[in-house]
Amino acid sequence: MKQGGIYILSGPSGCGKNTVYEGLRALDPDIVQTVSATTRKPRLGERNGVDYFFLTGPEFKQRIDDGEFVEYVTYGGNCYGTLKSEVRRLTDLGKTVVLVIEVRGALNIKRMFPQAVAIFIEPPSMEELIRRINKRGDNNDAEIELRMNIAKEEMTFRDKYDYRVVNDDLDTCIKDIYQIMQKESDQHD
Ligand code: 5GP
Repeated sequence: MKQGGIYILSGPSGCGKNTVYEGLRALDPDIVQTVSATTRKPRLGERNGVDYFFLTGPEFKQRIDDGEFVEYVTYGGNCYGTLKSEVRRLTDLGKTVVLVIEVRGALNIKRMFPQAVAIFIEPPSMEELIRRINKRGDNNDAEIELRMNIAKEEMTFRDKYDYRVVNDDLDTCIKDIYQIMQKESDQHD
């Protein structure tokens, strides 16, 4: 695949977007993800500057005031944002840039970068999504319920995307998305 371009991988919590991203990267090492900033506490094994830039509330606010974000949202009581510096760094390197973000941020990015390709990853069913969210051992009951409610709302955004891909079989889903990326990269120059 030709390098370059911005792709948004989005979808409800539990749809598998991070795993899909890992699969795409395994197919093509020039596909790279921007590292977002968040006020969420690191989960076990997460590393600062690799999984996220973990910031305090005041630090996040300072970056908003300094105009450092392309987009930011509050999600489940925490702030998440895409840093301009990250998008710039990776596009300057000529990489194929992937943003793995929630739905409101995705639509904001699409408004700012109309050439960005927005892909919504759907779970095979609501039942399966609930099962996947429940399976995540790192969330407590209140957090699981909150994420499920958010997930249901996020599903209503799916028609606003350029593409929708069902993540039933992971390998098929990765292959389908890679094909979309190849097709799009051929169309743009
Ligand atoms: P988590 O806490 O599970 O890592 O992330 C919660 C949600 O925030 C996920 O849907 C994730 O994709 C999304 N997210 C992560 N970084 C960003 C970001 O920079 N901007 C937006 N809008 N969403 C993000």
